[in-house]
Amino acid sequence: MSKKHGHYCKVCGEYKSNESFSGSGHAAHICKKCAALPAAQRSEAMILTKLWNLPWQLSSQQRDWLKGLQNDSRPEVASTAKELYADRFPYAERNERKKQLHILRMEFTICGEVIDEYGDVCCEDVQFTLDRKEHTVTLHRENETMTMQIMLTEKDMRKLLNVIVNSYEIFCWEDDYGFSDAADTDDLWEAEWEAESPDEAAPEEPEHEDSPSWTVSVRYTNGEAQEMRGYDDLPDRVNELALELLALFEDEPDMEDDESDCAPDVR
Ligand SMILES: [Zn+2]
Repeated sequence: MSKKHGHYCKVCGEYKSNESFSGSGHAAHICKKCAALPAAQRSEAMILTKLWNLPWQLSSQQRDWLKGLQNDSRPEVASTAKELYADRFPYAERNERKKQLHILRMEFTICGEVIDEYGDVCCEDVQFTLDRKEHTVTLHRENETMTMQIMLTEKDMRKLLNVIVNSYEIFCWEDDYGFSDAADTDDLWEAEWEAESPDEAAPEEPEHEDSPSWTVSVRYTNGEAQEMRGYDDLPDRVNELALELLALFEDEPDMEDDESDCAPDVR
C-alpha cells in the first residue's frame, strides 16, 4: 500500500496521526495544534500552505487566485504570491501590455553612431518617423538635408509596428535602459542620493549635461504616450531597431518575395 500515513492538515500542511485531530477537525482537515491558533494566524498559515502546494501548471482559477494574492495585505502572503507568480509567468506583465499597445505614431532618433552587423559604423544621427495611418516610414539624416520616405502596405506597416512592440518591446525601453520625463520625482531624488554608489544611479540623474544617445516619442492607439531617452551607449535592441528601419530604405525592390516575413529574430 503506498498510501500516505495519517491525515492531512491543510493549515500546517503536515500528515499527522488520527489522534492529532479532533472529531470535527478531522472533517475540516485541521489538526488540534492548528485549531488552537488564533483565527488570523490560522488562515494565513492555511493560505501559505496552499500557495506552496500549488502545482506548476495552474488552472485558470488557481492562476486568478494567485494573481490576486499578490496584493494581499499580509506581507508574507503577498511576497510569496509574487514570487510564485513571477516564477510561473515571468513575462506576464509585459505580455499583458503588448496586447493593449498598438503604435499610432512614433519618432525614433539616434544621436550618434549606428553600428551594422559587421561592427562598423553605418550611419550617424538619424531620425525615423513611423505613421500607422499613412503607412509611412520617414528617414531624416541630420547631416543631409534630404528626407526619404517610403510607403508600406497597410499589412506590412501593421506588422512592423507589431514587431516594434512585441519583439523590441519599445514600451519597456524606459524601464530597461532609459531615463524618462515621466519618472516621478521621488525616484529622481533617490537616484541622486544613491549616486554615491557610482555605477548604478548615475545615468539616471535628472540634470544630464550630455545630449541623449537615443530618444523615442510614441503614441498608441489607446491614447497612451511615452517620451523616452537614454544616455548610454546604444543598447543592442535600440541599435537593431535602427538597422531594421534603415534596411527598409535599402532593399526596397526586393520586398516582393515573401521571405521578408522573417523579420530579424530579436528575442
Ligand atoms: Zn496542522
